[in-house]
Amino acid sequence: MLRQKRAAVAFVVIALVLTLEGTRDANARSKLPDPVHAGVAEKLYRLDCGHSLANDESVWTPGENVGRDIEFSSTCWLIKHKSEWLLWDTGVPEASLNDPKGWSTLPKLIVYHLDKSLTDQLAEIGMKPGDIGRVAISHTHGDHIGNVGLFTNSTIVMQRAEYSWIHSPNGPNENVNQLMALARKLLGMPKSLELVDGDTDVFGDGSVTLVSTPGHTPGHQSLLVHLKNSGFIILSGDVVHLEENFEKNIVPSLNTDKAESIASMERVRRLIATYQAKLFINHDKTQTDSLRLLPAFYD
Ligand SMILES: [Zn+2]
Repeated sequence: MLRQKRAAVAFVVIALVLTLEGTRDANARSKLPDPVHAGVAEKLYRLDCGHSLANDESVWTPGENVGRDIEFSSTCWLIKHKSEWLLWDTGVPEASLNDPKGWSTLPKLIVYHLDKSLTDQLAEIGMKPGDIGRVAISHTHGDHIGNVGLFTNSTIVMQRAEYSWIHSPNGPNENVNQLMALARKLLGMPKSLELVDGDTDVFGDGSVTLVSTPGHTPGHQSLLVHLKNSGFIILSGDVVHLEENFEKNIVPSLNTDKAESIASMERVRRLIATYQAKLFINHDKTQTDSLRLLPAFYD
């Protein structure tokens, strides 16, 4: 009897340790880098993670462009830091590769197409999903977490507020509820999940920093990357979708909080000033098409 009890206690302790290990808290490392003394990452690669056509631009520019088609890019970024690799966002699911019907998060509004798989693009530089130590996601919309399931050996890094949000009860907006349900399905139960609270220095040397920019979703984040030759680059996530929206502070109607969205755009503007940073806007197709694509990279 006693032996059984001891075994049960040992099991509970082991389960608890595994759970804690699976959701390591990065709280203690939270901070923005020193612009002068920040460390550097070696390489930043852009991967083509899909493109999409939406039938009503006014969702992203409320009051304007009603019923007008708009094309967006979807971008993932791969960062090399010493011997470690970090992937930023995972794009449209590989299952939709070359499917003429495409794939969708909100079928009445937007259709995504994928011309090249993430796996094939990694292979172009001699890598496979199992080589990626960490996958950080800007937020949980399907076009950003579509391939999280490929990275079963990686630690998935996201804001705790985002994780809590997708597991919270539905709200009044059907589109948002639909996006939350899809997020739960695509994210699944990662073996290793790192939930962070606010700004977080990923490698502990100021080279790569998760920056809290809520508003598009409650736990949305952007990424500040420091490179030796290119200086500081901010990867937007969806803090903004189009250059013009950034210039005019325009907030898409799908965003969960308008005031937070505006505050986050202001925050990015301050970061650009502080770090003399460039802003790469994930879905702005015109800008994206002008950027280097793997196997080329920024260093
Ligand atoms: Zn998006």
